[in-house]
Amino acid sequence: METASETVSAPRAAARQPEQGGLYSLLMARAAGLPNDDLLARMLVSQVGGQSVLPAGLGLEPGAFRELMNRHFPGFVLPAPLSQAPDLGERGIEWDDLLGLLMQYRAGNDASEDSLALIVATACMGGDHLWQDLGLWARTDLTLLMRRNFPGLTALNIHDMKWKKFLYKQLCDRAGVYVCRSPSCEVCVDYAKCFGPE
Ligand code: SF4
Repeated sequence: METASETVSAPRAAARQPEQGGLYSLLMARAAGLPNDDLLARMLVSQVGGQSVLPAGLGLEPGAFRELMNRHFPGFVLPAPLSQAPDLGERGIEWDDLLGLLMQYRAGNDASEDSLALIVATACMGGDHLWQDLGLWARTDLTLLMRRNFPGLTALNIHDMKWKKFLYKQLCDRAGVYVCRSPSCEVCVDYAKCFGPE
């Protein structure tokens, strides 16, 4: 069960960017009341405003994006280009691995978990903090997304590692590949890259 502290962050983008705040309000006025409506609205607002790494349609295939919109915001038509799947080039294998990891840990509570697994894997291809590449409005939004949709995976992040680092570390641990240069995090010169504020 989610607690009050796990609610989404305040809609700061609404104050910062009136036109996008308007889009957020329009989306939420159509929200179906399903898990992830609010988080999806935030990502959509940022994507339309060019404030995330995600392509149009959040990286989903056109049919999947239409289905997602119809389910979460019935009757709403986004003033945005048609959705497009990103061209991942040589990073396709990495993307597949991330998607597989997330899919394995779905909570099994809502169909949107599948879409979010794909969206998160796609945002991992960006170079910034994961919550920013997703177009979320605060790191706490991403923590909520992970806890709600991939709780078993979230439970493994016991030291609050930065999310993108954490996901890649999981892949490395699985493959038995040792990528860290230090014997433990406590003595690692890269500690700040893996932990600390985002
Ligand atoms: S802090 Fe250093 S040892 Fe720990 S996960 Fe990051 S890179 Fe690896």
